[in-house]
Amino acid sequence: MRISTLSVGDELICGETTDTNAGTIATMLVEHGMRVQRHMTVGDSEPDIIEALLELARNSDAIIVTGGLGPTADDLTARAAARATGRRLVLNDHARAHVRDMSARLASLLVCPLNDKQAMIPTKTTLIPNPTGTACGFHLMNNGCFMFFLPGVPSEMRLMLRSSVITFLADRITPKRVIRSLLLNVFGPCEAEVDELLTGIARPELGLRLGICVTFPWMRITLRAEADSEDAVEALLQPAAQAVRERLQGYIYATGEDGIDDVVAELLQGSGRTLALAESCTGGMIAQRITSIPGSSRYFLEGAVTYSNEAKIRQLGVPVALLEEKGAVSSDVASAMAKGIRQVAGSDLGLAVTGIAGPDGGVEGKPVGTVFISLAAPDGCWTKRFLFSGSREEIRILTAWTALDWLRRYLLMK
Ligand code: ATP
Repeated sequence: MRISTLSVGDELICGETTDTNAGTIATMLVEHGMRVQRHMTVGDSEPDIIEALLELARNSDAIIVTGGLGPTADDLTARAAARATGRRLVLNDHARAHVRDMSARLASLLVCPLNDKQAMIPTKTTLIPNPTGTACGFHLMNNGCFMFFLPGVPSEMRLMLRSSVITFLADRITPKRVIRSLLLNVFGPCEAEVDELLTGIARPELGLRLGICVTFPWMRITLRAEADSEDAVEALLQPAAQAVRERLQGYIYATGEDGIDDVVAELLQGSGRTLALAESCTGGMIAQRITSIPGSSRYFLEGAVTYSNEAKIRQLGVPVALLEEKGAVSSDVASAMAKGIRQVAGSDLGLAVTGIAGPDGGVEGKPVGTVFISLAAPDGCWTKRFLFSGSREEIRILTAWTALDWLRRYLLMK
C-alpha cells in the first residue's frame, strides 16, 4: 500500500515547531509492516492544502494528514478536505456533541460558537474519536484513496493514529508485509569510508535497504528488511547484518539504542575492573559520561580534572622534569597521568587524556587537535597520539569518545 503523509501548519514551515508527527507516523507504520512513500508539509493555506492533497492522492492509496483541525481561523484543513474531494462542509451532530462534552470536561474552554467550527466536517466521512481533545478526526475515501485527518497536537494524534488509523490500514494490506530494522552504531571511520566498505550489501530489489545517518561524532547504520513473513525478513536481515559486522570489524560499538557509555558501563561491570580518570583537555567530560550511567559507583572510583601543570604534579605525581622536557601535551606525560591516577585511586585501570583543544595553543609539531590518550592497566600502559579536527567543542567530544572507545576495545579483548 502506498501511504503518504501531510503535515499542516505555518509553525512547521517557519521552523518554530519540529514536525514530530511525521516521525511518529513513519515509525508506527513500519512497526506494522507499512511505510511512508512520500511526505509533504504545507502552511495554513487552504489552496496549498488542497493542492497537496490532490498531488499526493495521484500516487497514494492512503494519505494521513495532521494539523489544522482546531477552532481558530487559521485551522483550514476540514474545509480544504471538503473542497479537494467535492464534499460539503456541514455541522456534524456527533462531532458537535463531542466538542461540547470535551470542552466541559477539560473545563478550560468555554462552549462558544467558535468551538462549533471544530464540528464542521465534510459529508460522507467517518469520524475518528479523539479521547483527549476537542477536535474529532475523520476519514473518507476519494477516488480509491483513503484520507485520514487528525489533529496536530502530538499526544492526541498519536492516540488516534494507534487506535483507529493503523488498525484500519493494517487490515487492508494484502499481502501482509513484515518490516524489521536493525540499528548498528558506529564510531571511528568517516561516512564516505563506511559507505565504501558497505558497498553492495543493500538489495532494494529484494526488500533490503541500508541507511547511514551521521550524528556527530558517531553514526547509525540502519538495515531495514521487508518481506512477506518473519522468516523471510530474518533471512534477508541476518546475513546482511553479519556482512556489515565483518566489514566494519571493531567500529560497531552497539546495536539498537545503546550509547557508547552504556556499552563501556556493561563491560566494566562484567569485567569486575575499577576505573579512575585523569582528564586535562576534556575537563571532566569522560567522568560525566561514565557517571551518567546508573550503578557506575560499582566500578568508577574517581576522576581528576588536572588542567594545570601544577595539578598534574600534585594530584598525579607527574615529574616536573618530564613536564618541562616533554610538555604537558606529550606521550610521556599522558602515560605518567594514567599511571599516576591508577596508583592514587588504587584502581585496576587508569585512563588519561591531554591535548590542545584550541582555538589557540597550537605549536610547531603539536597543532591544535593534538591529543594523547593513555590507558594504564595491570598488564601494561599504552599511549596513542591522535590529531582531531574541528571546533574546540568537537575536539573535546572526539577526545572523550575516542578514550571511551579505546577502553571498550581493551575490555572486549580481555
Ligand atoms: P487543535 O485542536 O489543538 O487546534 P489542530 O489540529 O488545529 O489541533 P494545530 O493547531 O495545527 O492542530 O496544532 C496544535 C499544536 O500541535 C501546536 O502546538 C502545534 O505546534 C503542534 N503540532 C501541529 N502539527 C505538528 C507536527 N506535525 N509535529 C509536531 N507538533 C505539531
